[in-house]
Amino acid sequence: MGTLLKMPAVDRALGRAIEGRRISLEEALLLAEHCSTELLLETAGSLRARFHGRTVSFSKKVFIPLTTLCRDHCGYCTFRRDPGEPGGRYMTPEEVIAVAEAGRTAGCKEALFSLGDHPERVFPEAREFLRQRGYRTTLEYLAAMAELVLEEVGLLPHSNPGLMDRASLEKLRESNVSLGLMLENASPRLLRKGEAHWQAPDKAPRLRLETLEQAGKLRIAFTTGILIGIGETVEERIDSLLAIRGLQETYGHIQEVIVQNFRAKPNTRMAGHPDLSVEEMLRTLALARLILPGEVNLQAPPNLNHSAFPRLLEAGINDWGGISPVTKDFINPEASWPQIAVLREKTGAHGLTLRERLAIYPEYALDGGFVDEGVRPYLRKLVDEDGYAHNGGS
Ligand code: SF4
Repeated sequence: MGTLLKMPAVDRALGRAIEGRRISLEEALLLAEHCSTELLLETAGSLRARFHGRTVSFSKKVFIPLTTLCRDHCGYCTFRRDPGEPGGRYMTPEEVIAVAEAGRTAGCKEALFSLGDHPERVFPEAREFLRQRGYRTTLEYLAAMAELVLEEVGLLPHSNPGLMDRASLEKLRESNVSLGLMLENASPRLLRKGEAHWQAPDKAPRLRLETLEQAGKLRIAFTTGILIGIGETVEERIDSLLAIRGLQETYGHIQEVIVQNFRAKPNTRMAGHPDLSVEEMLRTLALARLILPGEVNLQAPPNLNHSAFPRLLEAGINDWGGISPVTKDFINPEASWPQIAVLREKTGAHGLTLRERLAIYPEYALDGGFVDEGVRPYLRKLVDEDGYAHNGGS
C-alpha cells in the first residue's frame, strides 16, 4: 500500500468519493494500492467535514464483563477464560448492579455489557449457573441483567454478546438502546487452521452477517466494525467494509463502524504476530470513510498508551467510542475522567470539538423507530434535544 503514482483512474476514484458517490471494489483497491496517504487523508477529512461537521463524539461508559467464559478460541484474545481459571465465571446480579451503580455515580450513561460467546454450549458449569437462576442461555441471562440495569440504575445498556438469533435480538431490544457485533472480517479464510479465527465457530462471517441483517430488519441501532492486522489481505478488508456498506444501504441501522487494530498480547496464539504501523491504520480508516456511506459514524478507539492516537483524527473519524473512568475512584467522579480532558485537548488541537453522546447516536436517538417503547422513558432522561447526552461534553 501507499505507492505514490499519478494515475487518472486513481483521480477518478478519488473524485467519486469526494462527490459522496459509491466507489467499487476495484476503485477501493486502486486507492489502497496507489493513492498517497496525504490524498487519502485529505479526502477522508473533507467527507467528515461534509457529513459530520466539526463534532467528534464519545460515550461515558461503565464496562460490565458479564462472563469471560467463551466457547471460541480467537488467536488474539486475552479476555476469554475456561471454567476453573481465575475469573472464569459469570457476574452475579448483585455484582452487575454494584458496578453499574458505581458507574452511574461517576457520571456514566452507558452500561457496556461484553461477554464471551455461547459458553453454555460447551461448559456444564455455565449451564448449571444459568439453570440455578432459571435461564437456559447466556443471552437470556444477559437480557435480564440489561433490564435490571436499565430499570434499577437508569444506565442505557449496549450489549456486545457475540452472535444473536432473531429471538434474542428481539428480547435484547426491549432493554438495550443499541447492540453491537464486530464483523471483524468477511473472509471465511480466517477460520482455517492456524488463522486468527481457527477454533472460533462464532466468528464465521456468514453467521455474523446474518445477525447484522436480522438487527436491520428489527430496526436496532447497531454497532459493527472490522479488526485489522489479524492476517487478512487488503482486499479482504475492503470486502468487509463493502459488506457493511451493503447492510447500511438496505436497512439504515449501522450507527457506527469501528476500525480496530490488532495489538499483539503475551500468552496468546498470536503473541508473535506483528502490529500494524500507524500509517496502515490511518490509510485503512481513511479508506473506510471513503467506502462507507457518508452518514455512518466512523470510530477508532484511542489507545491512550499510544502517543500517536490524536493522528487518527486526520483519517476522517468522528467518534472515539466509549471511555471508562480510568480509576476506581467512584467517590470522586471529577477525578475519574482524566482521559476525557486529554481527548478534549487533542481533539481541539485538530480544530474539532469533543461532545458526549449516548450509547445510541443522536440521529438514531431522535428517530423513535429505533428505540423500544420500554426504553424510551429512560432515554428521554439522558438525551438532549439534539440527540447528544444531556449536559453533554463535561
Ligand atoms: S469470541 Fe473470541 S474474542 Fe470474543 S471472547 Fe471469545 S475468544 Fe475472545
